[in-house]
Amino acid sequence: AAAEVRELLLARIKDIPDYPKPGVVFKDITPLLADPLAFAALTDTLAGLAARYGATKIVGLEARGFILAAPVAVQAGVGFVPVRKAGKLPGATLAQAYELEYGTAEIEVHAEDLRPGDRVMVIDDVLATGGTAEASLSLIRRAGADVAGVAVLMELSFLTGRARLVEGLAGAPLEALLTI
Ligand code: AMP
Repeated sequence: AAAEVRELLLARIKDIPDYPKPGVVFKDITPLLADPLAFAALTDTLAGLAARYGATKIVGLEARGFILAAPVAVQAGVGFVPVRKAGKLPGATLAQAYELEYGTAEIEVHAEDLRPGDRVMVIDDVLATGGTAEASLSLIRRAGADVAGVAVLMELSFLTGRARLVEGLAGAPLEALLTI
Protein backbone atom coordinates (compact mmCIF):
# COMPACT_ATOMS: atom_id res chain seq x y z
CA ALA A 1 0.00 0.00 0.00
CA ALA A 2 1.08 3.59 -0.53
CA ALA A 3 2.93 5.19 2.40
CA GLU A 4 0.10 7.60 3.22
CA VAL A 5 -2.45 4.77 3.25
CA ARG A 6 -0.23 2.72 5.54
CA GLU A 7 0.11 5.69 7.89
CA LEU A 8 -3.65 6.23 7.95
CA LEU A 9 -4.31 2.55 8.70
CA LEU A 10 -1.59 2.26 11.34
CA ALA A 11 -2.89 5.35 13.15
CA ARG A 12 -6.33 3.68 13.51
CA ILE A 13 -5.15 0.38 15.00
CA LYS A 14 -5.03 0.32 18.76
CA ASP A 15 -2.62 -1.82 20.79
CA ILE A 16 -4.34 -3.46 23.76
CA PRO A 17 -1.66 -4.94 26.04
CA ASP A 18 -2.30 -8.22 27.86
CA TYR A 19 -5.51 -9.03 25.95
CA PRO A 20 -6.96 -11.65 25.81
CA LYS A 21 -4.20 -12.93 28.11
CA PRO A 22 -0.98 -11.66 29.72
CA GLY A 23 1.89 -11.12 27.28
CA VAL A 24 -0.30 -10.76 24.17
CA VAL A 25 -0.66 -7.35 22.49
CA PHE A 26 -4.07 -7.41 20.83
CA LYS A 27 -4.37 -5.37 17.61
CA ASP A 28 -7.78 -3.71 17.83
CA ILE A 29 -9.10 -2.64 14.42
CA THR A 30 -12.40 -1.19 15.65
CA PRO A 31 -11.12 2.45 15.50
CA LEU A 32 -10.20 1.83 11.83
CA LEU A 33 -13.65 0.35 11.07
CA ALA A 34 -15.31 3.36 12.71
CA ASP A 35 -13.41 5.78 10.42
CA PRO A 36 -15.05 5.69 6.97
CA LEU A 37 -12.00 7.10 5.16
CA ALA A 38 -9.63 4.58 6.71
CA PHE A 39 -12.06 1.67 6.18
CA ALA A 40 -12.55 2.67 2.53
CA ALA A 41 -8.79 3.02 2.02
CA LEU A 42 -8.37 -0.49 3.41
CA THR A 43 -11.09 -2.11 1.29
CA ASP A 44 -9.89 -0.23 -1.85
CA THR A 45 -6.37 -1.51 -1.33
CA LEU A 46 -7.49 -5.09 -0.73
CA ALA A 47 -9.86 -4.99 -3.72
CA GLY A 48 -6.92 -3.79 -5.85
CA LEU A 49 -4.91 -6.80 -4.69
CA ALA A 50 -7.82 -9.15 -5.41
CA ALA A 51 -7.95 -7.79 -8.98
CA ARG A 52 -4.16 -7.99 -9.40
CA TYR A 53 -4.17 -11.64 -8.29
CA GLY A 54 -7.13 -12.48 -10.52
CA ALA A 55 -9.27 -13.65 -7.61
CA THR A 56 -12.69 -15.04 -8.52
CA LYS A 57 -13.74 -15.68 -4.89
CA ILE A 58 -12.90 -14.01 -1.58
CA VAL A 59 -12.71 -16.10 1.58
CA GLY A 60 -13.06 -14.28 4.90
CA LEU A 61 -11.85 -15.88 8.14
CA GLU A 62 -14.19 -15.67 11.14
CA ALA A 63 -14.76 -13.23 12.63
CA ARG A 64 -12.87 -10.03 11.85
CA GLY A 65 -11.91 -11.36 8.43
CA PHE A 66 -15.63 -11.30 7.53
CA ILE A 67 -15.81 -7.55 8.17
CA LEU A 68 -12.99 -6.87 5.71
CA ALA A 69 -13.61 -9.58 3.14
CA ALA A 70 -17.31 -8.89 2.49
CA PRO A 71 -16.93 -5.29 1.23
CA VAL A 72 -13.81 -6.31 -0.71
CA ALA A 73 -15.76 -9.05 -2.50
CA VAL A 74 -18.53 -6.60 -3.42
CA GLN A 75 -16.00 -4.05 -4.64
CA ALA A 76 -14.04 -6.64 -6.62
CA GLY A 77 -17.27 -8.00 -8.12
CA VAL A 78 -16.70 -11.58 -6.92
CA GLY A 79 -18.38 -13.89 -4.41
CA PHE A 80 -17.75 -13.91 -0.66
CA VAL A 81 -17.26 -17.24 1.11
CA PRO A 82 -17.13 -17.49 4.92
CA VAL A 83 -14.70 -19.88 6.58
CA ARG A 84 -16.20 -20.47 10.02
CA LYS A 85 -15.34 -22.08 13.29
CA ALA A 86 -16.64 -25.65 13.42
CA GLY A 87 -20.37 -26.18 13.94
CA LYS A 88 -21.66 -22.85 12.60
CA LEU A 89 -22.45 -23.65 8.95
CA PRO A 90 -25.75 -25.42 8.27
CA GLY A 91 -24.93 -27.19 5.00
CA ALA A 92 -22.49 -29.92 3.92
CA THR A 93 -19.00 -28.80 4.89
CA LEU A 94 -15.33 -29.58 4.51
CA ALA A 95 -13.53 -29.35 7.87
CA GLN A 96 -9.88 -28.79 8.70
CA ALA A 97 -8.29 -29.14 12.13
CA TYR A 98 -5.11 -27.26 13.06
CA GLU A 99 -2.82 -26.84 16.05
CA LEU A 100 -3.13 -24.00 18.52
CA GLU A 101 -0.65 -23.07 21.25
CA TYR A 102 -2.77 -25.20 23.60
CA GLY A 103 -4.90 -27.82 21.85
CA THR A 104 -6.48 -27.78 18.43
CA ALA A 105 -9.12 -25.83 16.54
CA GLU A 106 -11.28 -26.66 13.55
CA ILE A 107 -12.61 -24.52 10.71
CA GLU A 108 -15.20 -25.31 8.05
CA VAL A 109 -16.47 -24.10 4.70
CA HIS A 110 -19.59 -25.00 2.75
CA ALA A 111 -18.31 -27.53 0.20
CA GLU A 112 -20.44 -26.14 -2.61
CA ASP A 113 -19.08 -22.58 -2.24
CA LEU A 114 -15.61 -23.44 -3.61
CA ARG A 115 -15.22 -25.21 -6.94
CA PRO A 116 -12.51 -26.31 -9.38
CA GLY A 117 -11.69 -23.26 -11.52
CA ASP A 118 -12.10 -20.80 -8.65
CA ARG A 119 -9.08 -18.64 -7.75
CA VAL A 120 -9.49 -17.78 -4.11
CA MET A 121 -8.02 -14.95 -2.08
CA VAL A 122 -8.10 -15.32 1.71
CA ILE A 123 -8.54 -12.16 3.77
CA ASP A 124 -8.05 -11.63 7.50
CA ASP A 125 -7.15 -8.78 9.82
CA VAL A 126 -4.05 -10.18 11.53
CA LEU A 127 -1.59 -12.90 10.53
CA ALA A 128 0.01 -14.25 13.71
CA THR A 129 1.33 -17.84 13.60
CA GLY A 130 -0.34 -18.39 10.23
CA GLY A 131 -2.08 -21.52 11.47
CA THR A 132 -5.60 -20.33 10.66
CA ALA A 133 -4.66 -19.05 7.20
CA GLU A 134 -2.76 -22.25 6.43
CA ALA A 135 -5.77 -24.38 7.42
CA SER A 136 -8.01 -22.25 5.17
CA LEU A 137 -5.67 -22.93 2.24
CA SER A 138 -6.07 -26.65 2.86
CA LEU A 139 -9.86 -26.26 2.70
CA ILE A 140 -9.63 -24.34 -0.57
CA ARG A 141 -7.37 -26.93 -2.18
CA ARG A 142 -9.38 -29.86 -0.89
CA ALA A 143 -12.42 -28.29 -2.55
CA GLY A 144 -10.46 -28.42 -5.81
CA ALA A 145 -10.08 -24.64 -6.09
CA ASP A 146 -6.82 -22.70 -6.59
CA VAL A 147 -5.29 -20.34 -4.05
CA ALA A 148 -4.68 -16.85 -5.45
CA GLY A 149 -3.07 -15.66 -2.22
CA VAL A 150 -3.55 -14.46 1.33
CA ALA A 151 -4.02 -10.77 2.12
CA VAL A 152 -3.98 -9.38 5.64
CA LEU A 153 -4.14 -5.92 7.10
CA MET A 154 -1.32 -6.69 9.50
CA GLU A 155 1.43 -9.26 9.80
CA LEU A 156 3.08 -9.88 13.18
CA SER A 157 6.48 -10.76 11.75
CA PHE A 158 7.94 -12.04 15.05
CA LEU A 159 5.46 -14.95 14.89
CA THR A 160 6.84 -16.14 11.50
CA GLY A 161 3.47 -16.86 9.89
CA ARG A 162 4.96 -15.67 6.59
CA ALA A 163 7.53 -18.45 6.50
CA ARG A 164 4.81 -20.98 7.20
CA LEU A 165 2.58 -19.75 4.37
CA VAL A 166 5.07 -18.72 1.71
CA GLU A 167 8.02 -21.07 2.22
CA GLY A 168 6.10 -23.93 3.84
CA LEU A 169 3.97 -26.54 2.14
CA ALA A 170 1.21 -23.98 1.68
CA GLY A 171 3.42 -22.09 -0.82
CA ALA A 172 0.98 -19.20 -1.23
CA PRO A 173 1.69 -15.52 -1.96
CA LEU A 174 1.17 -13.33 1.09
CA GLU A 175 0.35 -9.61 1.01
CA ALA A 176 0.48 -7.68 4.27
CA LEU A 177 -0.45 -3.99 4.19
CA LEU A 178 1.38 -3.44 7.49
CA THR A 179 4.26 -5.43 9.00
CA ILE A 180 4.91 -5.22 12.72
P1 AMP B 1 -2.91 -17.30 13.70
O1 AMP B 1 -3.67 -18.51 13.30
O2 AMP B 1 -1.97 -17.54 14.83
O3 AMP B 1 -2.22 -16.62 12.53
O4 AMP B 1 -3.95 -16.31 14.31
C1 AMP B 1 -4.68 -15.57 13.48
C2 AMP B 1 -6.05 -15.25 14.02
O5 AMP B 1 -6.03 -14.81 15.38
C3 AMP B 1 -6.56 -14.14 13.19
O6 AMP B 1 -7.88 -14.47 12.80
C4 AMP B 1 -6.49 -12.91 14.07
O7 AMP B 1 -7.69 -12.20 13.97
C5 AMP B 1 -6.29 -13.43 15.49
N1 AMP B 1 -5.11 -12.82 16.16
C6 AMP B 1 -3.97 -13.45 16.49
N2 AMP B 1 -3.13 -12.65 17.15
C7 AMP B 1 -3.75 -11.45 17.23
C8 AMP B 1 -3.41 -10.17 17.81
N3 AMP B 1 -2.24 -9.95 18.43
N4 AMP B 1 -4.31 -9.17 17.71
C9 AMP B 1 -5.49 -9.37 17.09
N5 AMP B 1 -5.87 -10.53 16.54
C10 AMP B 1 -5.03 -11.56 16.61
